[in-house]
Amino acid sequence: MGRNVVIIGGGAAGPSAAAEAKRRDASLGVTIIEAGSYVSFAS
Ligand SMILES: Cc1cc2nc3c(=O)[nH]c(=O)nc-3n(C[C@H](O)[C@H](O)[C@H](O)COP(=O)(O)OP(=O)(O)OC[C@H]3O[C@@H](n4cnc5c(N)ncnc54)[C@H](O)[C@@H]3O)c2cc1C
Repeated sequence: MGRNVVIIGGGAAGPSAAAEAKRRDASLGVTIIEAGSYVSFAS
């Protein structure tokens, strides 16, 4: 079973952290949990 990263918050920092995690290890499973209705797609 592969490694997984869970990121809390889909504002500016969350999706940036997700992208960086994937850049460092493309095999990682990355999940973003956002309390609101929208996540940032600019970061
Ligand atoms: C009024 C205002 C105007 C601004 N204008 C600008 C601007 O013009 N240009 C600029 O560069 N910056 C601006 N900023 C600053 C910018 O918004 C912040 O620096 C940036 O959003 C911080 O990003 P972040 O990801 O750290 O936090 P946030 O953007 O706050 O993201 C955190 C996310 O985590 C979510 N969250 C929190 N707790 C939980 C939980 N328990 N479970 C799930 N999700 C959770 C929240 O819903 C939120 O979406 C402004 C800020 C404010 C307040």
